[in-house]
Amino acid sequence: MSAPAPIADGLFAWPADEPRLLGGRCAACGTTTFPRQPGCPRCGAQPLEERPLSRRGRLWAWTTQEFPPPAPPYAGPQGADFEPFAVGYIELPGEVRVEARLTEHRPAHLRIGMEMELVIVPFGTDDAGNELVTFAFGPVEDDER
Ligand SMILES: [Zn+2]
Repeated sequence: MSAPAPIADGLFAWPADEPRLLGGRCAACGTTTFPRQPGCPRCGAQPLEERPLSRRGRLWAWTTQEFPPPAPPYAGPQGADFEPFAVGYIELPGEVRVEARLTEHRPAHLRIGMEMELVIVPFGTDDAGNELVTFAFGPVEDDER
């Protein structure tokens, strides 16, 4: 049994005890992107250096998905198997805003500016039955300190 595979290559370091998203950083102007891009969106320099991003950031914006999105492109559970989820933007300090699924979808447990941490979560299986994982952000448990 092999380890679950990332949904796409180059998005995050995996397997890893402390997974990090892999962004790109422009050596010319310092702009950081995620995902990594072939060239800098700000000054056009290329290529961008691979840069492991911060594991923690602040919730910048979020929304909940209470019903299954249109499929395709949505490929997740439908009908009774569907579970509401939330997506949001996480601002990584000094780096970039990352769009990601959130592990918490109850509005009472989410607030703008709260500290969030990267986690790797199951994402079903591919056509060959291999387990897949993707990245998400969840509230930092010790945020109240
Ligand atoms: Zn640049």
